[in-house]
Amino acid sequence: MVRLYFNRTGRQPSTWLLDVPIFTVCPACGFVPHEARRYVGSRYGHVGGFTCGGCGARVTILDGDCRPPVRFVADVPGKPERSFVFEDVYRLNWADLTRAGALTRTALIPPDEKGYVDFGAALAAAQGEAAQLGVPVVPAPLPEGVSWVPEPLRAWLDALFTLDGPATR
Ligand SMILES: [Zn+2]
Repeated sequence: MVRLYFNRTGRQPSTWLLDVPIFTVCPACGFVPHEARRYVGSRYGHVGGFTCGGCGARVTILDGDCRPPVRFVADVPGKPERSFVFEDVYRLNWADLTRAGALTRTALIPPDEKGYVDFGAALAAAQGEAAQLGVPVVPAPLPEGVSWVPEPLRAWLDALFTLDGPATR
């Protein structure tokens, strides 16, 4: 399940994720569990936490009161921290969705002032368009410091990367 909110009424149109699988990381030792966590926003910026399977540190997950970035803070001396804007990592920000809409010739962001992007439809459009190219799906490279992304975001990144074609790589 992916819930992606959009708002085009602000000074800058924007999107943000309100329900999405995320990867997690321990900022103390760098351990990255290979299991997704469901992110559904926060209560006043508090998302949750976990105990690191690598070093045993307690890691607190925070956000900007349901807005990016999502921050991982380890409760060890120095309070090391890692943060991610998942809208960017997952290429679900306004610019990427607009570009994906042009590539698929589909309005992926509804014309309303605000509301939700139908991620399932967007993924289907991107995968359908990529299939029509008749080229193999190319695994998308991930941003610096990101070792894996859960499905269905992996499929979305791969479809977009395939659609972008060799010219833009
Ligand atoms: Zn750790």
